[in-house]
Amino acid sequence: MISSHRIALVTGANKGIGLEIARQLAQAGVVVILGARDAGRAKAALDDLLSQGLKAQAVPLDLDDHASIAAAAETIRAEHGRLDILVNNAGIVDAADGPPGTASLDAVRRIMETNFIGALAVTQAMLPLLREASAARIVNLSSSLGSLTLNGDPASPYYAARLIGYNASKAALNMLTVQLAEALRGTSIVINSVSPGYVKTDLTGQQGFMSAEEGARLPVAYALLGEGAVSGRFVEASGQTPW
Ligand code: NAP
Repeated sequence: MISSHRIALVTGANKGIGLEIARQLAQAGVVVILGARDAGRAKAALDDLLSQGLKAQAVPLDLDDHASIAAAAETIRAEHGRLDILVNNAGIVDAADGPPGTASLDAVRRIMETNFIGALAVTQAMLPLLREASAARIVNLSSSLGSLTLNGDPASPYYAARLIGYNASKAALNMLTVQLAEALRGTSIVINSVSPGYVKTDLTGQQGFMSAEEGARLPVAYALLGEGAVSGRFVEASGQTPW
């Protein structure tokens, strides 16, 4: 079925910020595909959106299983023929992450595999479908913790958060934003890194200054950017974040 609505894929969309991004995109009239690895939570999230009368579907997607990424791309191609919006939202922290001198290497590897390699793999798999859209948008859920500048600034509130795995994974994700924005310059595809703020979700142990609904607003705004939109930026609610 070729749809006249915009089609979005949100990874890690079964809970937290991802579910609220999916909800707000669907409320804006976008057909949302929930990418999720946990089938039970995916069904609950899909039922939640459908019960609100929103247009949504779910596709199995585990960032650590590249066959599932390829299968998701095939499903989207078969059903929609293109992708207008990709939100690379899925991400993890790990209790064994920590300062560079002591962090568990296995934890750092796990985090890099999901937050960077996984997002890169999804982006590569979806790029042919994004090229089929008239003005595709890619949003990478980054974090101010991924700012090299703020990690080295004692005056920054992020200075004390010494998580070599998580922070490096978001810095690497930002590199994807920069390099792909340059590679896509001259096309209609726009890509940006968005830091949602400190949001109460399972990832933060429900600590934070914002609800998941509030944390979804900036990523959604960047997913819905109109013509002439900026590309290759790293932004937070207060403006641009230093790389
Ligand atoms: P969350 O509530 O823990 O949700 C994370 C989502 O990612 C879940 O749906 C989870 O699915 C999914 N996920 C994790 N690993 C996956 C994998 N290998 N394959 C597929 N899906 C996977 O966390 P959140 O706070 O909403 O985080 C969303 C994004 O925002 C993350 O990239 C995070 O780094 C970023 N972020 C969050 C904050 C914050 O304050 N919360 C701040 C800055 C950036 P399962 O249910 O299957 O585990």
